[in-house]
Amino acid sequence: MTEKKTRISIVFPVFNEKDNIEELYNQVREVCHQANLDYEMIFVDDGSSDGSLDVVKKVRAADPNVRYLSFSRNFGHQVALFAGLGKAEGDAIITMDADLQHPPSLIPEMVKRWREGVDVVYTTKQDANIDPIKGFIVRASYWFISKISGLSLEFGQSDFRLIDKKILKLILDMPECHKFLRGQVRWLGFRQEGIPYNVEKRHAGKPKFSYRSLYHLALDGIFSFGRYPLHLIMLFSLIIFFFSSLYLMIVIGIWILKILRIVRIPMPPGWTDLIMAVCFLGSVQLMAVGVLGEYVGRIYEQTKKRPIFIVKEDSAKENI
Ligand code: UDP
Ligand code: MG
Repeated sequence: MTEKKTRISIVFPVFNEKDNIEELYNQVREVCHQANLDYEMIFVDDGSSDGSLDVVKKVRAADPNVRYLSFSRNFGHQVALFAGLGKAEGDAIITMDADLQHPPSLIPEMVKRWREGVDVVYTTKQDANIDPIKGFIVRASYWFISKISGLSLEFGQSDFRLIDKKILKLILDMPECHKFLRGQVRWLGFRQEGIPYNVEKRHAGKPKFSYRSLYHLALDGIFSFGRYPLHLIMLFSLIIFFFSSLYLMIVIGIWILKILRIVRIPMPPGWTDLIMAVCFLGSVQLMAVGVLGEYVGRIYEQTKKRPIFIVKEDSAKENI
């Protein structure tokens, strides 16, 4: 059909994956050859300490289509992906993990869908091979983030996706310092379609995402897409206000009836009610302050205008 070979960029975030890189490279290259695709592979070393960068350099020495960036320290998976996207020059860009959990064999299908006119081909992982506790947390976070951000993220959407280069440009132009790529991509619209896939077992090494980093990622999803949490708190406090006013009116009514000696209802003992009200309202207030604090903190981070990552080495300027 088309005479010119399509060039695909594939971006891998790498944090201590030295035993996966060569196998990953071989599998991806093989798949690209089979599918008659021109490729560039961009490895973003996110401050690895296990010598991953040396393995990447070794692979690059044999194949100039391999490029890399290396950070001065660990800046996180989302930032590594974003930095890699900034280097991509292909017609379509695929992001995938470096541990072979995202099967390279899916690449031809993703490219096929893109050629059919889909701007974002995302993937949704099936439950298999996910640690059950992590699976539950991730499932709950997806549900919550989707509700709160209004983005309708499907469960299992990871950062294994193909985007057209016009989407890439739009993503790179988004100035926010807290990156939550699956939300940002979703937010853009255009034609987006998903492919289900089975998560493979990690080829080697251990997972790098701690529960803490998952929590931070979930917060980015919740707080980066509008003021819905603020609206929710407002609604919640209005409901509490309504019921406490009602309760207050009933108590005052009983007092008046008692004073007028119309009824002889004993007043509630008070202690339990009081403590419950104090605790409940106290926790709501703390939550409200926390939510406001989160927004203020994000404004603070954004106004600092610090770079979101520092590059130590770049294959384009070998050994800076
Ligand atoms: N990763 C990264 N920086 C980090 C944590 C992870 O670049 O701070 C990379 C990691 O090397 C892998 C991908 O992100 O290529 C996904 O990490 P992991 O496999 O630990 O996540 P999981 O599959 O458990 O979600
Ligand atoms: Mg993994």
